[in-house]
Amino acid sequence: MFDLHSLYQQVIVDHNKSPRNYGTLSPCSHDAEGYNPLCGDQLHLYLEIDDDDVIKQARFEGEGCAISTASASLMTQAIIGLTTEQFAALFDAFHHMATSDTQEAPDQERLGKLAVLAGVREFPSRIKCATLCWHTAKAAIDGQPSAKTE
Ligand code: ZN
Repeated sequence: MFDLHSLYQQVIVDHNKSPRNYGTLSPCSHDAEGYNPLCGDQLHLYLEIDDDDVIKQARFEGEGCAISTASASLMTQAIIGLTTEQFAALFDAFHHMATSDTQEAPDQERLGKLAVLAGVREFPSRIKCATLCWHTAKAAIDGQPSAKTE
């Protein structure tokens, strides 16, 4: 059975302890700063997007809580190789999951590993920690210098 709660904790601990794709990226074609004033999470996201709108590289650095760090780590893994159009669809799917009712099962087929972050819905004050990196990536792709969760 899919035990969301314990999987959630395992994944958060793992990705917070050893975040994937952590660091700067240079050269990079797109980047943005993200800030979540509710929790104090800050991150800088770097993307390398090629002429075919494919995200070739994604990296991040910053200071944040375990959830924001783990979410950014998972997101960079999930979006490398996607087109910006596919990113937009995944953004919507992730955002829907993070803000949906806790009774609604996450769309695992679409979200893959990201589905474990549905566990954040049990802690409404932390939802913005999980969505910050997504808003920051969207800002970077849209050519905005920064994103805020408020
Ligand atoms: Zn946070």
